[in-house]
Amino acid sequence: MSNENRIVVITGAGSGIGRATSIKFAEHGYKVVVVDFNEVTGEETLALIRNHGGEGLFIKADVSKVEDVENYVNQTVDTYGRIDVFFNNAGIIQKFAPFTTVEMEEYDRIMDINVKGIFLGMKYVIPVMEKQGKGAIINTASSAGIRPEHSIAVYSASKHAVIGLTKGAAIEFANKGIRINAVCPGGIVTPLFKSVGETLEKSGYVPEEMSRVRMGRHGEPAEVAEAVLFLASDKSSFMAGAVVTVDGSLTV
Ligand code: NAD
Repeated sequence: MSNENRIVVITGAGSGIGRATSIKFAEHGYKVVVVDFNEVTGEETLALIRNHGGEGLFIKADVSKVEDVENYVNQTVDTYGRIDVFFNNAGIIQKFAPFTTVEMEEYDRIMDINVKGIFLGMKYVIPVMEKQGKGAIINTASSAGIRPEHSIAVYSASKHAVIGLTKGAAIEFANKGIRINAVCPGGIVTPLFKSVGETLEKSGYVPEEMSRVRMGRHGEPAEVAEAVLFLASDKSSFMAGAVVTVDGSLTV
């Protein structure tokens, strides 16, 4: 297969969108570096990749810690010699709650993982791609990075920041062979999405977003994986700084 020697690094690969994308890339011949701070689910994803006839490596890392990010980048380069694609995806959701009740601890946790984690991933992967003269980066933002949902202002702000980081980096590296784009999922059935129900109930807010998904259903992680695969491939060769929604029209 043409992707035989292509290496993809995927963060948050132990669950949901990251796991589905790991399997999708393995099916398309990529060697997959599975990064997650959950060792059990990360190893499970690697086992699933192998079950699909794929090859890869699991590296435990907290994407918000500089030394962990340096380590997953260095270990990938030591093992495979290159990084062709980086799916910078790990992220967490906020508990639905009135704005003024958000604890500083939660604010910091969301910003550390969703914003600093995305920044650090690019900071350490881009130099590898610069040396190669080629690479594709896909950052996971969210429909909430375009159109905030009620009662999760901090999460929405963190995902707006991901779009800012994506566009800002995209214009710096577009002429160096590195294409940087963002994917914005919305309403995708994953453990993260299912956890929303529990905190929503406590917040007292009644959601109206389903009325904006005109397809009348939620999305599957594999549907996001298809968009990521496209953004990773040369088929999207003139795309840089793009913000691609996969949300069944939620943001429209
Ligand atoms: P998920 O909870 O199923 O998976 C997230 C994975 O990231 C988990 O395996 C978790 O262990 C890992 N992770 C979390 N913090 C980490 C850290 N600090 N370091 C390393 N790994 C960490 O969630 P998902 O729904 O697959 O979400 C993936 C991404 O998609 C997130 O950035 C999320 O904000 C975004 N997103 C999801 C939806 C949706 O509807 N599911 C919508 C919009 C955006």
